[in-house]
Amino acid sequence: MSHYHSVHDPAIEGILVSAEGIADIVEDLGRRISADYAGKDLALVTVLRGGVIFLADLCRAIDLPVTLDFMAISAYSRGGGAVRITKDLDDSIAGRDVLVVEDIIDTGLTLNYLLGVLRQREPASLAVCTLFDKEVRRLADLPIEYRGKRIPDRFVVGYGLDLGGRYRNLPFLASLHDEVMG
Ligand code: IMP
Repeated sequence: MSHYHSVHDPAIEGILVSAEGIADIVEDLGRRISADYAGKDLALVTVLRGGVIFLADLCRAIDLPVTLDFMAISAYSRGGGAVRITKDLDDSIAGRDVLVVEDIIDTGLTLNYLLGVLRQREPASLAVCTLFDKEVRRLADLPIEYRGKRIPDRFVVGYGLDLGGRYRNLPFLASLHDEVMG
């Protein structure tokens, strides 16, 4: 009989941000968004799949009427190649106050492309909220209105972020040992 415990997973090097640390950041972001968007028509837009964990917590930290909608993009977006939308939003965002909710911004190329697509649909406003930011790797100049936490240039998993589809369910943000990355 074998029991899996993430804290004993040999691939995990260490915890960068604890579950409690993430919860504090999300509460703070929710408070700021609630204050800034009071009286507006807020549409939260999230990129599948990684963003859903953050979105689920963030939307409950926002004390305003909001809607949730989702997009998905092809995986070869990393590295800056052409991004393909594999699932579009279900609802129109024209005239609405759109906040794009991202788990992490790395080079920023993916988000830069998405913002271009969304801007063409004439939202009343368009802003970005990211939980984690690897700012030193940024290639595209992006306005980020809400940033949870800057993190170092390390590959991280947990709280929605994956390696080969796994680790999204970790309640904390973790770094992996280099040899796991291949
Ligand atoms: P960007 O276009 O380079 O900003 O890439 C952003 C996307 O790459 C994120 O939405 C993640 O899906 C993925 N990504 C970037 N860094 C990491 C990481 O450290 N762990 C897991 N996924 C990452």
